[in-house]
Amino acid sequence: MQRRVALVTGGVGGIGTAVCKRLAADGHFVVANAIPGTEERWREAMAAAGLNGDRTALAFGDVTDFEAMGEMVAAIARDHGPVEILVNCAGITRDVTFRKMTLEQWRSVLATNLDSVFNVTRHVIEAMIERGWGRIVNISSVNAVRGQFGQTNYAAAKAGILGFTKSLAQEVVKKGVTVNAISPGYVQTDMVMAIREDVRRQIVEQIPAGRLAMPEEVADAVAFLASEKAAYITGTNLAVNGGLHMYA
Ligand code: NDP
Repeated sequence: MQRRVALVTGGVGGIGTAVCKRLAADGHFVVANAIPGTEERWREAMAAAGLNGDRTALAFGDVTDFEAMGEMVAAIARDHGPVEILVNCAGITRDVTFRKMTLEQWRSVLATNLDSVFNVTRHVIEAMIERGWGRIVNISSVNAVRGQFGQTNYAAAKAGILGFTKSLAQEVVKKGVTVNAISPGYVQTDMVMAIREDVRRQIVEQIPAGRLAMPEEVADAVAFLASEKAAYITGTNLAVNGGLHMYA
């Protein structure tokens, strides 16, 4: 497999770390984007996976900041080479029913989950087109399509990712760049473990698979869409949800 430079936003999170490990295991050089203060968590995760600085790096930056993302992508290109695989994985939830939702809760979720996809992709797309090869994988959510009580902000942002994915996919496929989304169901990460236990139990009862997904199962799907073999797959939304919602 050809070694590519991969950038994973939210790369120190539950799913992001699994994606970084998997892409590095596939032989790619992986840069994890994170917010400062996560160095130790990252170092421990990489050491546990037997990965060292030759195959991975950290790049700090707030994905809601367009200029900062431009600087980060330029620094990665200078230090490691242009980004060829981009995984837009950074995300937050601020769950609350719509009638109680503040403008800040709306804006922060839209900025982190949706604006971020523009902020990073805009800075990597030209180099991908120039080189005639690129893979963009956007992490959406089952709740983009299903909707979810208490998540008008999050579901709107994640549904926005799907529209973005399908549109950009059409614009760049002839240039060798694919753009796809993955919609995980409920994955065993801090984001889901923060849900009250009784509510979480009810959620699991609704999943035909009878369990949460492991982050590695999402990472495997990302790795496939990022591979050479997925060249003819673009604009898709790949469900990784244990049968919770079936799109077609
Ligand atoms: P985590 O909270 O573990 O990971 C999210 C990561 O994004 C964290 O590392 C977080 O950093 C980072 N992040 C948040 N805000 C910013 C920012 N402004 N700039 C840069 N990084 C930021 O969650 P998951 O791993 O569970 O989720 C990863 C993605 O998968 C998200 O997009 C989420 O919406 C999506 N998803 C998750 C599901 C699940 O069940 N867990 C289901 C469906 C989709 P820090 O920790 O330092 O705040």
